[in-house]
Amino acid sequence: MTQAVIGPEIERLIQLLARLPGLGPRSARRAALHLLKKREALMQPLARAVADAAAAVKVCTTCGNVDTRDPCSVCTDPARDSATLVVVEDVGDLWALERASATRGRYHVLGGVLSPLDGIGPDDLNIASLTGRVRAGGIGEVVLAVNATVEGQTTAHYITDLLSGSGARITRLAHGVPVGGELDYLDDGTLSAAMKSRTLF
Ligand SMILES: [Zn+2]
Repeated sequence: MTQAVIGPEIERLIQLLARLPGLGPRSARRAALHLLKKREALMQPLARAVADAAAAVKVCTTCGNVDTRDPCSVCTDPARDSATLVVVEDVGDLWALERASATRGRYHVLGGVLSPLDGIGPDDLNIASLTGRVRAGGIGEVVLAVNATVEGQTTAHYITDLLSGSGARITRLAHGVPVGGELDYLDDGTLSAAMKSRTLF
């Protein structure tokens, strides 16, 4: 945008909005304009909400979840099954599993996946704390709910090796036909994975 059109404060706002996932420069300008128009109804409450969240946010030292308290709401929930530990790559995956009410277990957030090409090794992830939790006992099953990507599966294999002999059962999510999916539209990898992990009807 040319200099004289907007002040530096608004330019800065647009630049920061453009860094959000899913927003490019064009949608950032639209979002900024919308905020400017709805200054009292949206922009000021949003600014306060961002400041409040930024001040309150904490990373759970037990599981790596992001919350406003440490230990987090999931770790301190007495209704959770403490014998089941669901390992996820990111907090977004934890939120997705919670939205789906997929498990009543507790979580462990790795904070990424192993990726030698990007220089991400075991020490860059919350893996040491995971082995610590499992070796401390009381965990019957570790569910590796990582993405079905090469890096996700490499990470799952690494963790499985690490936890062998810990006494906990190591499981992973099924790979296969999505709910509502049509076979004709599936990629070859998904289809052959679904055939391999077929179950008794
Ligand atoms: Zn936690």
